[in-house]
This record gives sequence, structure tokens and C-alpha cells, in this order.
Amino acid sequence: MSSIMQEMNEVEKKVKKRIFIGLLVCSLLFLVLVVAFAWWIVSRQAFYFNKILLTSIITVALLFFILLAVGLLGLIWSLWRSKDLTSLQRIMHTATSVLFPVALRLGKWFGLEEEKVKNSYIQVSNQLVRMQTRPQALQKVLILAPHCLQWSHCLYKITINVHNCKGCGKCPIADLIKLAQKLEADLVVVTGGTLARKVVKERRPQAIVAIACERDLTSGIQDIEGLPVYGIVNERPEGPCANTRVDLRKVEEAISYFQHNNEKLGGL
Ligand code: SF4
Repeated sequence: MSSIMQEMNEVEKKVKKRIFIGLLVCSLLFLVLVVAFAWWIVSRQAFYFNKILLTSIITVALLFFILLAVGLLGLIWSLWRSKDLTSLQRIMHTATSVLFPVALRLGKWFGLEEEKVKNSYIQVSNQLVRMQTRPQALQKVLILAPHCLQWSHCLYKITINVHNCKGCGKCPIADLIKLAQKLEADLVVVTGGTLARKVVKERRPQAIVAIACERDLTSGIQDIEGLPVYGIVNERPEGPCANTRVDLRKVEEAISYFQHNNEKLGGL
């Protein structure tokens, strides 16, 4: 890839991440405004009991928002300086999970496509994974691939055993199998979140490279706690859920990163 293309990719990724961060900040401000409004209502209450009750609720909400703000600032600092803040990881995770639904709602009000906001979230999450994965070689990397990668007319059932694939090359599964064998990674094709969670429980990987659409990746990344999950959005030349594709170079780079943790995840 030419350096101009790489630069364009970098700029695009930065813009993508800024969408999510911007929306998170707006979400926090929005929640603070809601609390300020509630405070204003309380101050106009005539009954002493109501005042005490509402003041207590608002105080708790305020303390929670301060926690969210700390998590958000930690996240922004971390992304800006490309440094991990280990001590704030949990708070950053809480802030992201709590503010994410509000950010999605605000994105809608601002006319942003949900897919774009989720894609931005995946970019942010991937950068955090890169920063938080400790410098050690992870041996058990699991590739979770969606079943829509399989050619829609293929007769072989590959969700139970991916090696039922006959390697005809009509879909990316054959190449994914070769890649997984070459890098000694585990590969499982799943039909949805429930099966994905079951597979993770059974196989106990140290890291996951998940391929899916924005919607499934977002929920998957949020579902799996305590494991680094690197998300790769699939390509959908024929629309969603059928005959989708994936950039194998990105999958290879992500696996190699986890296994060696010394290579740049260029282009991801
Ligand atoms: S590569 Fe495998 S999964 Fe894909 S169509 Fe051919 S046999 Fe089916």
C-alpha cells in the first residue's frame, strides 16, 4: 500500500474515532443538563421531604457523573497520547458502556447513521485493545467468523466443524482456514452472539479476532469482558448477511499482533 493510501487510512481512522468520542462528550453534557434541570425543579419544591429525597438522588447522580467524566477524560487522554491508563481501565469501560446508548441516540438526533457511530466505537475499542494488551505472546488466539461469510449456496455445514469446508474457494472460508492453520489460531464460524459466547466459554482463548458487521461486533465487544477482542468489520458487497467478505490481511495482522505483540496493526 502506498504511503499516501496509508496516510489517508490514518486520517479516516482518526475521523472515525472522533465521531464516537465527540458523541460521548455530548452524552455526558446532556446527562449533566438533565441533572441540572432536575436540581432546578427541586429548588422550587415546597415540601421539605421531597427536597431531601430529590437532593439525595441528585447527589448520587452527580457523583456517578463525576465518575463517568473521569472515565471519559481517561479515555480521551489514553487515545490522544496512545498510552494505557491501567488504573482507570474499569472506569473507562463503565463510562463507555453507560454513555454508548446515549451517544447512539444523540447520533440519531444529529443525523448520523447508526452504523457510522458503531464503526467509530469499534475503532476506539481496537485502539484500546492495542494499548492494553500486555507485551507478551498470546498463544491461544480465536478467530470468530460470521456464518454470512460462507457462500450462500454452499451445501456444507461449517458451523459445527469448519473443516467440513471443501476448499472450493467460492467464499473466504477456505482462505480463512489456511490462514488459521498457518498462524496456529483457532477458527470457529458462528451463527450469532449466543453461539459465539458458548464457543468463547468452551475454547477459553487468550485473545479474540472477531469478524462481523458493526451491530454484532459492537454487542460482542461489550459482552465479552476480561479478554482482548479485536473487531474487524466485514465487507458486504451483496448487502447484509449474505456472501460477505473480509480483508484477510487485516485478520492476519490482528492475529500476528496478539501472537507477537511487536508489529504495528497497519491499515486496521
Ligand atoms: S470455500 Fe468452503 S465454505 Fe466456501 S463455498 Fe467452498 S466449500 Fe463452501
